[in-house]
Amino acid sequence: MPAPALTLIDLLNGYRVTQALYVAARLGVADRLADGPQGSEELAHMTGAHPGALRRLLRALASFGVFAEEADGRFALTEVGALLRDNVPGSLRAGVIFYGDRRHWGAWAKLEQSVTSGETVWGPRAASAFFEMNTKDPEGAAIFNAAMTSFTSAFDAAVVAAYDFSRPATLIDVGGGHGALISSILRANPGLRGILFDIPPVIEGARTRIAAAGLADRLEAVAGDVFASVPSGGDAYLLKWIIHDWDDEHSLTILRNCHRAMKPDARLLLVERVVPERIDPSADTQSTLLADLNMLVLAGGHERTAAEYRTLLGAAGFALARILPATTRLGVIEATRA
Ligand code: SAH
Repeated sequence: MPAPALTLIDLLNGYRVTQALYVAARLGVADRLADGPQGSEELAHMTGAHPGALRRLLRALASFGVFAEEADGRFALTEVGALLRDNVPGSLRAGVIFYGDRRHWGAWAKLEQSVTSGETVWGPRAASAFFEMNTKDPEGAAIFNAAMTSFTSAFDAAVVAAYDFSRPATLIDVGGGHGALISSILRANPGLRGILFDIPPVIEGARTRIAAAGLADRLEAVAGDVFASVPSGGDAYLLKWIIHDWDDEHSLTILRNCHRAMKPDARLLLVERVVPERIDPSADTQSTLLADLNMLVLAGGHERTAAEYRTLLGAAGFALARILPATTRLGVIEATRA
């Protein structure tokens, strides 16, 4: 087959890989392999799957390097497959479950609708439809919040290393979810105090985690609405994966509310994917550009270029100071009050 056809067919198979990973994550296969290789019969017995069908799933994923098929036919974890384990540092299991779950998966089945209308798949409703839905659907909200914690945990060491968080005395994480990132930052900077700010149901879930992490004396959890106001008096305001959720109008409201709450010399830190001006297929940008489509489908926002961030920040009274790359897929955009 000609190489272009092979390339296209491989791209086309993406959705099958997503579901294969999702099912393996749901069944908890990786946790059953934590102590060593297992045969598909035993794994099927332990996970409640059909032995023959599970073997086919594991062999398909082994062809992608997610599991390894041993000479004796048993399956073992690879470094990639180990990330499907639950409750281990760096686990992406919750992220895999979010992508494969019927809500997210079903929304992406309507991509054509979004590309045609320019609106989220929830239709011509308020841009906040996604987050409103999350407050009405506790199971969906739990899947989403856990996914954010898992994806954020994959990046938090890089963010902690990219920016000097030892200078601010108080850091406010606006829309900080269950607090994965600010907890990592506080652990690495013992002199720092923090406020985690998010909507009430998310903050409720965050409190037990903060206590369990032993950070209750330095990290306060505050519930509120970023479109009304954000906690005042911080030295640095962190917004990770917030502005990308919103169109420019909503983003400006959020940024102006931060501006109003900030001390004159405080810093604003947006942690976001930064879209390149021109697409180079050999660069590590696919994930960023697919995230942009995800914003179209789910949230109504978009990923932005450095120039777009500069303009948006300027309109809210900020000056973009610098963009520090945490990884090729995430930047720390630092801004000051202009
Ligand atoms: N910063 C976290 C979560 C990003 S997801 C991380 O990177 O992992 C976006 C977050 O914005 C969610 O936690 C969501 O609950 C929060 N959010 C959405 N609408 C909000 C509002 N009106 N006020 C405060 N937080 C909001």
